[in-house]
Amino acid sequence: MTVLVTGGAGYIGSHAALALLDGGRDVVVLDNLTQGHRWAVPAGAAFVEGDCGDEDLVRRIIDEHDVTAIMHFAGSIIVPDSVIYPLEYYRNNTVNSRALLQAAVDSGIRHFIFSSTAGVYGEPNATPINEDFALKPISPYGTSKMMTEKMLADAAIAHDFNYVALRYFNVAGADPKGRAGQTSRKATHLIKIASQTATGVRPQMAIYGEDYQTPDGTCIRDYIHVSDLANAHVLALEYLERGGESDVMNCGYGRGFSVREVIGAVKKVSGVDFSVDLAERRPGDPQSLVAGADRIREKLGWVPVHDDLEVIVRHALDWEQSLKTREVNAA
Ligand code: UDP
Repeated sequence: MTVLVTGGAGYIGSHAALALLDGGRDVVVLDNLTQGHRWAVPAGAAFVEGDCGDEDLVRRIIDEHDVTAIMHFAGSIIVPDSVIYPLEYYRNNTVNSRALLQAAVDSGIRHFIFSSTAGVYGEPNATPINEDFALKPISPYGTSKMMTEKMLADAAIAHDFNYVALRYFNVAGADPKGRAGQTSRKATHLIKIASQTATGVRPQMAIYGEDYQTPDGTCIRDYIHVSDLANAHVLALEYLERGGESDVMNCGYGRGFSVREVIGAVKKVSGVDFSVDLAERRPGDPQSLVAGADRIREKLGWVPVHDDLEVIVRHALDWEQSLKTREVNAA
């Protein structure tokens, strides 16, 4: 009775692995370490270095570790890169997911949880965004995730497994106990960038556009603490094990903060008044993305415990500080 966590050496996957271990489950992590780090795999999890698109390897892991469920995090997530390298994104996110699913079906896996994204909605003209909104991704990244959702839906009808696809909004923060955090080499996310600026890893940062139709002119996002998100995965697994119907669920708190509000929170919590430039709008940035968040609460009984911007920022800052110390010690 082990959970296979693909991408468990990465940001969200490592937090999900921790949440599973904390709940007394056995975990095996499969990660090719292109983005993740070996040291980020939580103590207590078995680790296999390899590709989730390697069907033979996945079948072997399932067999050797007595895997009964899969949480699939491995994938590429940088939206502008997906525009430049679309075929890489379709291979890594869609083709590899197909292979993983094939191995799962061949090996009789009964439960599958997929890391999807609010990016599948594209630029909806209403907010909050509900799960039944049309899927109109505007980047190869969003399309690559949508295609995997479609494969899952079709495969779950034809084969004997149930699944939950969680559509993440803006994930941020770090494990409150400091055991995991955002380590990606090419991080582009606002709270990470602002935390790096506050801790001196970056000299300054920029706001991408101040002329949006929002109260302070900057974009609004639904920031969710990574540990609440990790817990949602554990609840999704319990739901599937109880025989829950396959479903897609938004993962957000149902409220938004502007870029300026986020930067203000990072300055306040860190006590550092760092320099912020103004820059052009970033292409493809929707104005406002806030989750309609009822379904996940109703179906999974999910009750977030870190729904507080300053708490999210505190944990992100603590993690950045610990990374700096780690680098100094390693040098
Ligand atoms: N953003 C910004 N400066 C940065 C990084 C992000 O102004 O250095 C803005 C970005 O334009 C968007 C919001 O912050 O409006 C959230 O961006 P992020 O990349 O964190 O997540 P996304 O919503 O794009 O997935």
